[in-house]
Amino acid sequence: ADTFHFTAASRASLPRNMIENTMFEEEPDVVDLAKDSTAFPALEPDEVVYEPRSSRLLVRGLGENDLDDEEEDYESSARLLGMSFMNRSSTHNSSSSPYNRQAPPRLCSCPSARMLVVGVFILVLVASMAMALYFLPGCTFTKAGCGKANSSIPMEPSYPNSTNGELFPWNELRLPASVRPVNYDLSLTPNLTSMTFTGRTVINMTILHDTKRIVLHSSELIITKATFQVGEDKSVEVKVLEYKPWQQIAVSFLEDLKVGQVCVLTLDYAANLSHTYDGFYNSSYNDKTGAKRVLAATQFEPQAARKAFPCFDEPAFKATFLVRITREPGYITLSNMPQAKTTTLPSGLLEDEFEQTAVNMSTYLVAFIVANFTSITRNVSNTLVSVYSVPEKKEHTHYALDTASTLLHFYNTFFHIDYPLRKLDLVAIPDFLAGAMENWGLITFRETSLLVGNQSSPLDKQLIANVVAHELAHQWFGNLVTMRWWNDLWLNEGFATYWQYTSLMTEFPQLDLDNVFLGVRFKAMAKDSLNSSHPVSVSSQVTTPEQVSEMFDSVTYEKGASLLLMLKTTLPDGQFRKGIIKYLDNYRGSNTVTEDLWNSLTQVGVQESVSDMMRTWTLQNGFPLVTVSRKGGHVTLTQEPFLLSADNATHTSNLWHIPVTYVNDNCSSAPSCRQIFTLRNKTATLNVSDSVKWLKLNYMNTGFYIVHYGDEGWATLIDALKTDINTLTPHDRASLIHNIFALSRLGRVSFRQVLNLLDYTTNETETAPLTEALSQLSSVYRLLDKRQEQRLLARMKVYIWGHFGQLMDSQDWGEEESVSRQELRSVLLEMACSLGRQNCTDQATALYDQWTNSNQTKQIPGDLQQVVFSTAAQADLRWLSLMEAYSSTTYDSEKRKILQALASTQDPRSIVWILSTGLEGGIIQTQELPLVISTVSDGFAGHLLVWDFVKENWDRIIEKFPVGSYPIQSIIKSTTSQFSTQTHLEEVQGFFSSLKERGSQMRSVQESLETIRLNQLWMDRNLPTLRIWL
Ligand SMILES: [Zn+2]
Repeated sequence: ADTFHFTAASRASLPRNMIENTMFEEEPDVVDLAKDSTAFPALEPDEVVYEPRSSRLLVRGLGENDLDDEEEDYESSARLLGMSFMNRSSTHNSSSSPYNRQAPPRLCSCPSARMLVVGVFILVLVASMAMALYFLPGCTFTKAGCGKANSSIPMEPSYPNSTNGELFPWNELRLPASVRPVNYDLSLTPNLTSMTFTGRTVINMTILHDTKRIVLHSSELIITKATFQVGEDKSVEVKVLEYKPWQQIAVSFLEDLKVGQVCVLTLDYAANLSHTYDGFYNSSYNDKTGAKRVLAATQFEPQAARKAFPCFDEPAFKATFLVRITREPGYITLSNMPQAKTTTLPSGLLEDEFEQTAVNMSTYLVAFIVANFTSITRNVSNTLVSVYSVPEKKEHTHYALDTASTLLHFYNTFFHIDYPLRKLDLVAIPDFLAGAMENWGLITFRETSLLVGNQSSPLDKQLIANVVAHELAHQWFGNLVTMRWWNDLWLNEGFATYWQYTSLMTEFPQLDLDNVFLGVRFKAMAKDSLNSSHPVSVSSQVTTPEQVSEMFDSVTYEKGASLLLMLKTTLPDGQFRKGIIKYLDNYRGSNTVTEDLWNSLTQVGVQESVSDMMRTWTLQNGFPLVTVSRKGGHVTLTQEPFLLSADNATHTSNLWHIPVTYVNDNCSSAPSCRQIFTLRNKTATLNVSDSVKWLKLNYMNTGFYIVHYGDEGWATLIDALKTDINTLTPHDRASLIHNIFALSRLGRVSFRQVLNLLDYTTNETETAPLTEALSQLSSVYRLLDKRQEQRLLARMKVYIWGHFGQLMDSQDWGEEESVSRQELRSVLLEMACSLGRQNCTDQATALYDQWTNSNQTKQIPGDLQQVVFSTAAQADLRWLSLMEAYSSTTYDSEKRKILQALASTQDPRSIVWILSTGLEGGIIQTQELPLVISTVSDGFAGHLLVWDFVKENWDRIIEKFPVGSYPIQSIIKSTTSQFSTQTHLEEVQGFFSSLKERGSQMRSVQESLETIRLNQLWMDRNLPTLRIWL
């Protein structure tokens, strides 16, 4: 499921990210349980001997947080003795939501009294075991054991208790590998009046290894009947055990099921339609007449298919699916495949049956919908493309259909593999948490991510195109070839994000995506410059639902995409595409790990050294800082990790193979000027002609690193820009601005030097560098604002007016065709108006009044709506009229902008109202709460209120948005990232540590604490400079 907070529209609507970096001080990957066991799923033959492993996981997988070293030693010694002496089921129960990435810090490693007791106990054990051995000649603790009586004792794992009190026959979060589902036959009967459903799931499976148990997932389903059939035998009723904390059910057998046997498990069940945003959930909206209409839809990624039907809910368990759904007349149903037939049932209800999926697919990609939607359609090659919406928004679906058709054709051609299904539906769901979800053949969207009026601005359309391009790319990267487990989620999301920009830059160059992609790379670096960021390909434990949810973050999406861009620009033309086609072809229909990607590249002739290079980027977190120092023709490059909190020494020896690109003053802006030098060691020297005046590294900022040129190097570059701005490309200028702010945050350059560089911007007119400069400045402004540094704020305004005021005032407020110009104008004007520049606020207010006086017929240009609405929202009466407009508009992009404007009010009463209304749902949909919270957090009036609000309502918030999920990450980040004092640091720390299993261990919490510390440090370091120089 994808969130799209980082596309152009939101970036333009005012830079939110500078010092709000993410951060982690813990190394997230320290826990040892690495690849060898649970990190990779089930289907590898060498993994299937699960008995010994399970006994190990009794220690590791379960309540491992509770284990001290000595306890662990104790257990392993005892295990060596073949003892099954500890039933840890009490621990299992208490760890129902285990969140065990990180063991609590140990204060003392010296042996404790307990250790002594344990030691004595072990001695006694050893002695008694030795005696037992002595008196039982012939019995050894070899695999064969000593006959029946004894053989079951060694390695007997400890199992948790099922709901009915019996032992549950499995004790790992990951499923055993002994059984493989082949086909699911799903029948669902939802009742949209009682908001319940019943279902029958028939699972055909084959036995891969002899086993006495079948274990699969099920959550919040009441199993009413279960039957089991082996081969041609008669089917028999079986008992289903359930272990709720891990959402697993199991059937045990007295006799082994044998390798190669084919079995059928049939489960009848009943459940409530979910009230949250995942599983099979109910949703509603008000139609034109104001009547409430209900519908039911699904959202399964990452782990909620189990809430709709019992299944082997891990991405590597691919199978085919046949779906049947019962509905009332007046509704339609949709699923991944085209409808095969409709039958009228004796009850008068209708049953729609869909074709069996033509492809093997992962459970998280299954989807179905029952609603009263209407659609428009078009044929593209052999695929019928449709866009569905609620009937009243049908006329907003055309842009999505056009875009999807063009992109489907593009991907079919580019990847050399046709989209494999006969239909592709894109559906706008009124209540939808993510931005969109790439279910195979049935992509679901938030209305704001799919629907756009024909007269909407290109900037609004750019957002839709982004989401559609991303989700369509997933039909290959994710659906056809799927990561084996969530630790390699970047193989889905990094690629989909990369293709999203690449396909649009090719097919819709007028949408100006290269600027957006540049911003995305900057954003990924902000997150990745913190100590406990994670590698793109995570080698450590990603097991609990929270850990899985947390994989959906900026590193996975945006750093993943950035690394692919770096790879592509390093390879000779065409080779990247060749390698990608090879990868898709090699693994279509199956699952992959990151190494498979590198192997595919090697197969098309990419040098092994490139794979080695990429491993240095995907397997370690962070990225390098390259420092340039020059003596005549000798240029020395030195690399070190770019770490904002440099107190952590563990990463400082990290090295990357950096494809350093550079241009010089003789040839600096054309692509042909670019030269490459691979920096593999800590330092290296390259030679240039003595006559070269300056070098600019990281041409077009396609590499994922930051460059420090030294005092002299910066000075010559700044001079060069002041002499001729066009000596560097706009992206290179943006890259310099980004890098120097980053270096100042790192403490390597003074803020004085930052301001020196920015002086050239009085001549700047391009979108990318200006957007970057304003984004950075506004983050600084916001931090100072939260500290109420009034005098500095006043001077900073003067500074901003001095550098950008003229440009702001010269902006046109009429229609504008160029997306790039729209982006620039909206960023400039939003800053101007939010800082109260009279010229701006007068124009905005006039446009707003025209709009309301004309009964909203006199349109405001789409890219100016945000600044106009937000300015209007600062006056009480206009705020009220905006509220009315919010309730009545059917234009989703407009609605979202109005909501942001409403939330930007500085009136505390309105802020409190809008927060509680957002949490309540109804007038403001709960799905919009993260947006409301982040908007309120940016303003001075609300930033403390909103933090209190989040603390007070934490339990209700995590009911709506799962712990670890993107909305929760966003809520934590936006409410805490502008704090910069010790008091706030302690308060944030105190609050989250009080949460325990309700979220205290989230990566975003570490991130938030590190950000506050860095803000504090930044203030200490820079306030004096700012006072002098601003
Ligand atoms: Zn995605």
